[in-house]
Amino acid sequence: MADITGTGGLIFKEALLWEKSREGRCAFSIPTNDVPTAQLDPEFVGDAPELPQLGEFDVVRHYTRLSQWNFGLDSGMYPLGSCTMKYNPKTNEVQAARPGFTGAHPMIDDELSQGALALLYNLEQYLAEITGMAATTLQPAAGAHGELAGMLVIHAYHEKQGHQRSKIIIPDTAHGTNPASATLCGYESVNIQSGPDGILTPEAVAAVMDEETAGIMITNPNTLGLFEENLREIADIVHDKGGLVYGDGANMNAVMGIVKPGDLGIDVIHFNLHKTFSTPHGGGGPGAGPISVVKKLEPFLPVPRVEKTDDGYRLVHTTPDSFGRMLTFHGHFGVLIRAYAYIRSMGAAGLTDVSKFAVLNANYIKASLKDDLDLPYDRPCMHECVFTDKKQVNTGITTLDMAKRIMDYGFHPPTIYFPLVVHGAIMIEPTETESKETIDQFIDAFKAVVKEAKETPELLKKAPHRPKVSRLDEVTAARKPVLRG
Ligand SMILES: *Cc1c(COP(=O)(O)O)cnc(C)c1O
Repeated sequence: MADITGTGGLIFKEALLWEKSREGRCAFSIPTNDVPTAQLDPEFVGDAPELPQLGEFDVVRHYTRLSQWNFGLDSGMYPLGSCTMKYNPKTNEVQAARPGFTGAHPMIDDELSQGALALLYNLEQYLAEITGMAATTLQPAAGAHGELAGMLVIHAYHEKQGHQRSKIIIPDTAHGTNPASATLCGYESVNIQSGPDGILTPEAVAAVMDEETAGIMITNPNTLGLFEENLREIADIVHDKGGLVYGDGANMNAVMGIVKPGDLGIDVIHFNLHKTFSTPHGGGGPGAGPISVVKKLEPFLPVPRVEKTDDGYRLVHTTPDSFGRMLTFHGHFGVLIRAYAYIRSMGAAGLTDVSKFAVLNANYIKASLKDDLDLPYDRPCMHECVFTDKKQVNTGITTLDMAKRIMDYGFHPPTIYFPLVVHGAIMIEPTETESKETIDQFIDAFKAVVKEAKETPELLKKAPHRPKVSRLDEVTAARKPVLRG
């Protein structure tokens, strides 16, 4: 195996704490008791809890070792397409942990929360500026929650026009959460297919757009990592019939500072602050999915709204046309602080560079691996590129085998079998934060895996070999999960 990073190092075997337990062992020593002891009523206290008996060192080593079995952004490259697993600067963690912020409480009066409200207000303005829209709400707690908020805004808008509509158009390259959000809001989704080059055609939209259709949900860049070049024309078609355009902006790290979604005719868009704007994510941690809207949709945004007055900032709890609330309070504040700190530290030019490097890195990988892997859409990509396992079919090696094997080289696997429109998809998103050296190592590792697919396929079939656990039986794990130890 060529030069590897990561998982080739020390991997400790680790017993359960119960197996390490020794009668009488304890984490601390206290001075011998020199005062009379009193017996507690055993009826009242009950039996002592059964816990393993361990020294402090046993416990510290146990948990430190377990933490090292984890793979995260701080340990290596994590090119999981659609997820934007990028490195998040630690300074933003420091800002979010400042006592003034961590001590704030949402029920404290506005006059005593001016700093927090100023931060919320300014962040709303920055996001509106990035999207080229009029207003933002920071309430939604995740990307999909932002989609639902956007759908509720669209719903409230049509209600106000006096005619509720029943359908939402969703192309096959949209993110899977899009139809779910439309359905949750009571809309029926009308699925349409993208054209042969992976982007949506105005004709496909015109064929289904009618006055019963509330709008369209478009992921841009789409889940193939491609820019929807016909978006402006598509928006005109939808607007002509009184519909609205929802933009899934989870992938803002491909377009920030380059193009404003508002200029493309998008009326409402969500962000994934936990992807583009510096909140570590994965494993279901807190996120934030703010939405920005054009002027005519501002009245429908959820309450409370942050308002700037001559006397400072205040929360407005009711507005006549708001659809209501998304959360009890004001959103995941810690995530919002990180995004604010990130935007302030990067500046406008820095954010533009983020997009340029995210796109450059993905195109570099695309160009470097296209002789080794089948590239279904051979055109410039945005922040991620999509390959397939078609060239490996005759070796019996699949996308899954290659993804498992790349772990032996010290990398987290890319996204596989998504997007669904591509058979055997391998979706790679390097992000802007990886160095050229790391990206080159990843490319070399993938080339080595492709070579092994030809020469030693049996090695791939059983991969991974180096991580703590090797190939798992995913079918049995899903069908008959063992939920007890
Ligand atoms: C991640 C993602 C979402 C969903 O975001 P969550 O925060 O996981 O709800 C929606 N759309 C796209 C394009 C995404 O990449």
